[in-house]
Amino acid sequence: MLDIAIIGGGPAGLTAGMYATRGGVKNVTLFEKGILGGQITQSSEIENYPGYPNVVSGMDFMEHWPEQAMRFGLKHETKEVLKVEKENELFNLTLTGGESVKAKSVIVCTGSNPRSAGFEGEKEFFGRGVSSCATCDGFFYKGKEVAVLGGGDTALEEALHLAKICSKVYIIHRRDEFRAAPVTVEKVKKSPNIELILNAKIDRVFGGKMGVDGVEIIFNDKKKKELLVPGIFVFVGMDVNNEILKQNDGTFLCKMSKNGEVVVDLSMKTDVDGLFAAGDMRIQAPKQVVSAAGDGAIAALSAMEFLN
Ligand code: FAD
Ligand code: NAP
Repeated sequence: MLDIAIIGGGPAGLTAGMYATRGGVKNVTLFEKGILGGQITQSSEIENYPGYPNVVSGMDFMEHWPEQAMRFGLKHETKEVLKVEKENELFNLTLTGGESVKAKSVIVCTGSNPRSAGFEGEKEFFGRGVSSCATCDGFFYKGKEVAVLGGGDTALEEALHLAKICSKVYIIHRRDEFRAAPVTVEKVKKSPNIELILNAKIDRVFGGKMGVDGVEIIFNDKKKKELLVPGIFVFVGMDVNNEILKQNDGTFLCKMSKNGEVVVDLSMKTDVDGLFAAGDMRIQAPKQVVSAAGDGAIAALSAMEFLN
């Protein structure tokens, strides 16, 4: 029987774990299905976390978070949680392999995942020329031309990273204005080997057994153009990981927004007693490491209050 079960080992979950255990809660376990650190470990650089003036990779940035979080007694299990249900006053977590765990309270910090753009060939060539991680796959295209799809912070920041490795980066964006921060847009516009292809989308990606040969772009005025690039990086937003809150009857355990985010109040409380959510997967999340960590701390303090 756990006092607090934390689901997800990104900035929100790790911070929640540290606050809860440092605050004296004895039986706290964090379940993470992959490596600890969360999605920022895929980022080539982070430069907006207070107190870290030097730009570092996401992987380096998260290196010491688990060690610090576990110093006060947080336990960690590399397991995927499949479902969270509430039975009487207790939560029941179903884990991979059918195992189940009971907990008095739960903090859900499952974050978000890259969204697919939906063009022809995207799934077929995923991992063979289509990627959603420049840090992981950028090096395969050293000295070559690549395309980036999207106009948000992720697309532009990762395009800047790729521009250091690749001979040329085409940014394909469906509008002529960017969602990314103005400072990032400026950097992109000043990069000599980044070319903007605006008011356009990828219609299809084509290639063969060896991988991608290129993309067909369709402009908003329906004109088409081919780009012969072996690598396409898709950064068109994120979907929140809310599956574990789905119940057998198809409803969610707690109140959700129409976009599938968990509805919480300023204490990260859901409308179910003892259930908290923190980080990217809660409503109106700014989707920043600093806010995810802050949410995690708040959720842990609220869970402690609930247990008391
Ligand atoms: P996540 O980091 O998404 O962590 C969730 C964790 O939960 C993951 O490790 C996942 O494996 C785990 N998980 C999910 N489902 C389950 C399950 N069922 N069972 C067990 N474990 C599960 N933010 C910034 O502030 N600055 C930046 O420069 C910046 N750059 C970014 C660059 C990129 C490429 C990306 C993708 C994001 C960037 N962000 C940046 C955003 C930032 O990474 C997120 O806002 C932050 O990581 C959210 O933290 P989180 O803990 O809520 O979720
Ligand atoms: P985002 O801000 O939602 O941007 C997604 C981009 O993809 C938008 O430009 C969107 O176009 C485009 N798009 C969406 N669907 C598309 C489709 N089907 N085909 C083509 N284009 C499509 O997503 P994000 O860049 O991943 O960022 C997610 C969150 O993390 C944001 O809140 C962001 O600020 C944050 N983040 C922050 C940092 C940082 O602080 N440095 C870094 C990375 C991410 P439209 O603009 O036309 O909608």
